[in-house]
This record gives sequence, C-alpha cells and structure tokens, in this order.
Amino acid sequence: MERLAIFGGSPVRETPIFYGRQCIEQDDIDAVTETLKGDLITCGPKVEALEAKLCEVTGAKYAVVVANGTAALHLAALAAGFGEGDEVIVSSITFAASSNCVLYCGAKPVFADIRPDTYNIDPESVEKLITPRTKGIVAVDFTGQAVEHDAIRTICKKHNLILIEDAAHAIGTRYKGQPVGSIADMTCFSFHPVKTVTGGEGGAITTNDEQLYRRLMRVRTHGITRNPGEMVHPTDAKWYNEQVELGYNYRMTDFQAALLLSQLKKLPKFAARRKEVVEKYNKAFSEMPEIFVQREIPESDTTRHLYILRLNLDKLNCDRRQFFDALYAENTCPQVHYLPVYWHSYYEKLGYQKGICPNAEKYYEEVMSIPLYYSLTDADVEDVIHAVKKVVEYYRK
Ligand SMILES: *Cc1c(COP(=O)(O)O)cnc(C)c1O
Repeated sequence: MERLAIFGGSPVRETPIFYGRQCIEQDDIDAVTETLKGDLITCGPKVEALEAKLCEVTGAKYAVVVANGTAALHLAALAAGFGEGDEVIVSSITFAASSNCVLYCGAKPVFADIRPDTYNIDPESVEKLITPRTKGIVAVDFTGQAVEHDAIRTICKKHNLILIEDAAHAIGTRYKGQPVGSIADMTCFSFHPVKTVTGGEGGAITTNDEQLYRRLMRVRTHGITRNPGEMVHPTDAKWYNEQVELGYNYRMTDFQAALLLSQLKKLPKFAARRKEVVEKYNKAFSEMPEIFVQREIPESDTTRHLYILRLNLDKLNCDRRQFFDALYAENTCPQVHYLPVYWHSYYEKLGYQKGICPNAEKYYEEVMSIPLYYSLTDADVEDVIHAVKKVVEYYRK
C-alpha cells in the first residue's frame, strides 16, 4: 500500500491544486483593456450589454447587474419587502450571505433542513417551518443543482411567499428545460472567481416582474431616480434627480462587465467541461462503498459548481478531519462547503441552537469539496481520483 504523504510518503502531485479557480484567457484580458480606454468605465454600455446578455442566458425579462452576489441578495431581500417581524426560510447548508441578506433587512432567518442525498433544501422541512409571519424563502441551488421548484412553487402559492433563488452556484443550470434565472420571483447570481464565470467580483438579479426590476435599479444607486414618474417633486429640469428611498452604491464597473461578457461567451464550454469532470468522478467513486455520490434529480440539467466528496464513515477508520488533512497533503487540496449557517458564532449569539437541522449537521461532518473547474486536465482529474483512492485504501476498515 502507498504511504500517505501526511505520514512521510510522496504526494500524488508535486504542485497543489485547489477546489476552484478562474479561467482567464487573452480575449478576456483584451476585453478589459479595451473597455478601460473608453469614455465610461462604470455603469456604462458594457453593464447594459451584460444585463441584456444575462436576460438571453436565463430567459428572464429583466436583469440588474451589481457589485457582487451578496449585494444581489441584499437588494433582492429589500425589494421583496422583508423587514422587522418577518420570517424568511433559508437553506441551512449555504454560504452565510444567503441568510445575512435577511438580517440586513431586519427580518429573521429560519433554517430549513436539507435532503440527505441531494443536499438541497427539503420542501417538507420548509412546509413545517411556516408561520403567519413567514414572508419568503431563500432557496440555494447547492452545487449548481436546481432546487425542487415544483414543490417549492406549490408552497409559495399556498402561503403567499416570495421566492428568492440563490443561484450563485447555478448559472447555466436548467430545471425541466427552463433556465435558472427565469423561474423564481428573483434569482441572484455571483461572479466571484471560484464561480463558473467571473468578473473578479460581480453579481446580478434576474426577474420577470417589472415592479421589482424598477425597485432593484433604484436601490442599486442610492434610491435615486431620474424618472419623473417615480418622483415626489417631478420636474423636467435636465440636472434634476431625486432620492425617493434609502439605497446603496452597488454598481459594477464597465471593465468587470466587459470581462463577464467575454466569460459568458464561454459558458457552454465551461459547463461542458465541468460536466465531464463530474462524470469521471461519479464513475470512479460510485464503485467505492466508502464514498457517497450526490443524487441528481432528473429535472435538473446541472452546470455543477462544486463536487462534494461525502464519506461513508461507517466504512472508514478515520473522521472527516483526518481524511481532509490526508488529501490536502497529497496536494489535491479540498475545502468544506459549508458549515451549517447557524453554527457560526454570530448566529449562535443571535440565539440559534445546534440540533435544528439534523441532516445538515450530519452532512457537514462527512464532506469536503474536491477540485472542479474548467481548466482541470484529465491528468489532474486522475491525480484527484488517485489521491482519494490512496486515502480510502489507507483508512478502509
Ligand atoms: C458565492 C456565494 C454567495 C456570495 O457571492 P459573492 O459574490 O461572493 O458576494 C452567495 N451565496 C452562495 C451560495 C455563494 O456560493
């Protein structure tokens, strides 16, 4: 048996690879430099073109481009009207931003459990948490797989709830053939460098609702409007603008938008490669009883952002920490997505207690994300599989 690198053996790889990384090519760089030479370098023609392109990609009527995914979630929560006294049901396994946006608005996040096999929000758990104060749901397309929209839509209709879809992982995914971004009341995207397409930083909200769109556009820029129809004191003076509500500066620069326009052209090839890598991993790991493979629902045609390696700890003489450290020492560096949000000490201080989402808590103790991104070579993928096998064989019961 090969000696693990963590115990002095030689690592599977000389140089480390991490769970995600961007792919920036010469045409991306050219698009940015070209835009920097233009007249408008923020919120100019490239931002508008990006909004049009996002409508095309998602099938949504409207898109509002913002500074990052967290800003997108904040503005969506604001436009949804979440506020003091409201409860909003949020996925428990997600990045904290999905629920922080509810706190930004003074409302209370209520955490729903996940399905034990897809890791997405469980509609039955959502239903149980509904009270007269429930105003909406923030559902996350975790790893890129679409949430169970049919079940969630039924719940939203029955209880008159607003659905915000956190699709930070899911650009390019379709649910029953319909692109993510045109299904929920509002869908939020992130363009952070680990995501499938990047602007360095960046985010967007898509919606089919004109009222929500107008509101989102306004709060993106301080709550200030130039549209006389929205003013309390309308005038036709060319210089006049009016702040009609409290907003923010969540604008994106035009050079980030140019980078994103260039990246979105490559979404089909990025998505295809991610799918190939997922298939290679699934094939290798489905033969190993020590590893659970994430269940895919047939409704979702998924552009996968994360690959979750889940350990069957009954069959291994180690815990997640030992497995993670061993894989790390092999230079195939994993990461963990995510701590149940309410386990963060900030949420603990707000009064959330352990035990409320048993499936999420068990999931957290057993998982790590292994490298998944466009520019992984077949040899890289083989290295990751080799490293996982090596560690499994070492710790096998
Ligand atoms: C990345 C991410 C965000 C936040 O996006 P930023 O662009 O980093 O602000 C929100 N939710 C999820 C699920 C994410 O993965």
